[in-house]
Amino acid sequence: MAAWKVAVDRDSCLGTGICVVYAPDTFAHDEEAKAVVVGPPEPLDTVRTAVEGCPTRALRWTDDATEPPVADHERR
Ligand code: SF4
Repeated sequence: MAAWKVAVDRDSCLGTGICVVYAPDTFAHDEEAKAVVVGPPEPLDTVRTAVEGCPTRALRWTDDATEPPVADHERR
């Protein structure tokens, strides 16, 4: 199981849908067109792309990770 989770800051989300496009198994829109986390995380790189692509920085890493997750290619 992943040692990290991702959350949506609803106040910052403008409903652009970028996260839903990049990671459709992790994010969806609710009835207010705000992003919600809907499923178990997709591969880390997929979710990272969605988090980094959010124009309002409404997505953030949470839970028991002591640091933001780092992709393998960044571990140098
Ligand atoms: S990319 Fe950001 S602003 Fe757009 S729907 Fe997702 S969380 Fe909201």
